[in-house]
Amino acid sequence: MISCYSDSEIQMFDHETLRALQLIRFKKIVSQALKTEFYRTKLGSVGIKHSSDITSINDIQKIPFTTKEDLRDTYPYGLLAADKDDVVRMHASSGTTGKPTVIYQTQSDLDNWTNLTVRSLIATGCSHKDVFQNMMTYGLFTGGIGLHYGAEKLGMFVIPASSGNTKRQFMLMKDFQTTVVHATPSYMLHLFSEIEPLGFDLKDFKIKKAMIGAEPHSEEIRRKIEECFGIDAYNSYGLSEMNGPSVAFECEHKNGMHLWEDSYILEIVDKNNLTPLEDGNLGELVLTNLIRESTPIIRYRTRDLTKVIPGDCPCGRTARRIDRIFGRTDDMLIINGVNVFPSQIEEVIMKMPSIGNNYRIVIRKKGILDQLIIETEVNSEIIIDDTRKLYALRDRIKEELRASITISPQIEFHEPGRLPVQQGKAIRVVDER
Ligand code: AMP
Ligand code: ZN
Repeated sequence: MISCYSDSEIQMFDHETLRALQLIRFKKIVSQALKTEFYRTKLGSVGIKHSSDITSINDIQKIPFTTKEDLRDTYPYGLLAADKDDVVRMHASSGTTGKPTVIYQTQSDLDNWTNLTVRSLIATGCSHKDVFQNMMTYGLFTGGIGLHYGAEKLGMFVIPASSGNTKRQFMLMKDFQTTVVHATPSYMLHLFSEIEPLGFDLKDFKIKKAMIGAEPHSEEIRRKIEECFGIDAYNSYGLSEMNGPSVAFECEHKNGMHLWEDSYILEIVDKNNLTPLEDGNLGELVLTNLIRESTPIIRYRTRDLTKVIPGDCPCGRTARRIDRIFGRTDDMLIINGVNVFPSQIEEVIMKMPSIGNNYRIVIRKKGILDQLIIETEVNSEIIIDDTRKLYALRDRIKEELRASITISPQIEFHEPGRLPVQQGKAIRVVDER
């Protein structure tokens, strides 16, 4: 029955119909998962030996979580549930240490993913009339290729620029009159600071929108990107274990990301005891992919901290919205015994006047104590203008951070362009302890 609905109808399904669709798809994905020894053991441990053992969507709560370690332990083929001959592509997570976590796609998996990326781009107001410059890295990382296929299917004029080579990015942007860009938020800010030094003029660009994601960023960073370029920036969330971009995406209202619940089961659990939390409470996001036959992953602990934003979105889409990612459970820093998330620091410094486009958090040992150093770029005017202003800015940052994280850091100011920039995800924290 449900397959006869169009994609836009599915996005407007009422709560009950959406849950009914999830149940149908969940049973199918459980059947698929039972083809792997890994899930036969995991599901068998709670008495699920056949998809008919699932009678309600709440049965998911009986199932033990799947973790990144599970994916590593089953490398390379332990989670493959399809015939290897039917696999047409693989991707891997961007982690740099140890074995990568690998996922496989059949053609039908790719089609399902592409449909979600088309849907996400449409939700931000993109159309076939747009010129889409994709500045996310192409490769094993899902960020670049993921949106590429959706943009093409939507009929956009796609420029697969990939990341880096800022001068060439500007040339393409100008000569092909790019209207939509896709990049990490840190790269967007880096781009802005390079426009003039590389001999370009913002007036020659026609960018209207940016899809930003792949790394944590605060509302202040979004606002900065929007103000610098005079555009709208939409938050895009995804992870390779769940396909990649278009797990959750903001619509034109920019008030949280619709997590496409027809294709993923969304749970938020307490980060300590892992019990389910009600909407509105901050916890760890746990996801189940309902639309990928080749690599079914059930109750994946993303380690990302967020909450479901209660209430309906004015756009009418019924998929619940998650808030921007507050941090990762493994991101939390313990500085002299105090728990600090990098996002708390970013929020304070990025709302200050004269702060530039890049910063780093450095932690080192000084004697037996931890020392927190914040290195941030500042606009060139303040450096040339007045050292008193710089001292005042430093004191204000220290004061606000003391109020928010109870730690008074050392602040180091740098000229624009002095701090290192990564091609892919920004490295904001350097822990030298
Ligand atoms: P990867 O599997 O390499 O694509 O990395 C996925 C991870 O990137 C997620 O689990 C998040 O920690 C992070 N990430 C992706 N998109 C966002 C976003 N919009 N905001 C914050 N973090 C993100
Ligand atoms: Zn919406």
